[in-house]
Amino acid sequence: MDCIFCKIVNNEIPSTTIFEDDNLKVILDINPVNKGHMLILTKKHYNNIFDVPEPLLTNIYPLAQKMASILKTVTQKYNKHQIAGINIMQNNGAAAGQEVSHFHLHIIPRHAGEVGIIKVTRTKYDSMDEMNAMGNDIKELL
Ligand code: 5GP
Ligand code: ZN
Repeated sequence: MDCIFCKIVNNEIPSTTIFEDDNLKVILDINPVNKGHMLILTKKHYNNIFDVPEPLLTNIYPLAQKMASILKTVTQKYNKHQIAGINIMQNNGAAAGQEVSHFHLHIIPRHAGEVGIIKVTRTKYDSMDEMNAMGNDIKELL
C-alpha cells in the first residue's frame, strides 16, 4: 500500500520524530498551522478512528496530554507569540478534511486572535535544521 505515514513509521521517509513506542509515533507536521504542530500516528495502518482497536485508542489521549503540556513550554522560542491555546483534533474521511488515510491525531499550538478551528493558511519552518532543533528541544522535555 502506498501510504506516506506507513513509510514514515518504517523510516522509509524521514520525519522529525518526537517519541515512539511499540504502537505509536509522534512527529512534527511538515506543513504546520504553527511551529510545533504534532501528529500522533498509529504504527499500524488504520484508515481512521473507526478501525483503531479500543485499547489502542485509550493510549492516545494520555500521550496527547503529555505532548500538549510540553508544547506550551517550548513553542515561544520558535513562534512569534506565546501559545494561548492548543487544538487536539482528528479528521475522519475526505469530507472531514482527512488527506492522509492513516489514523493521526493533530496537536496544534494556537496564538491568541487566530480565528476558527484551523487556520486556512499554514506557516513554514525556516529550515529543516530549525524543525529538527525544535524536535530536539521537545524531546529533552519528555
Ligand atoms: P489530515 O488532513 O489528513 O488530517 O492531515 C494530514 C497532515 O499530514 C497535514 O497536516 C500535513 O501537513 C501532514 N503531512 C503530510 N505529509 C507529510 C509528511 O510527509 N511528513 C509530515 N511530517 N507531515 C506530513
Ligand atoms: Zn499507513
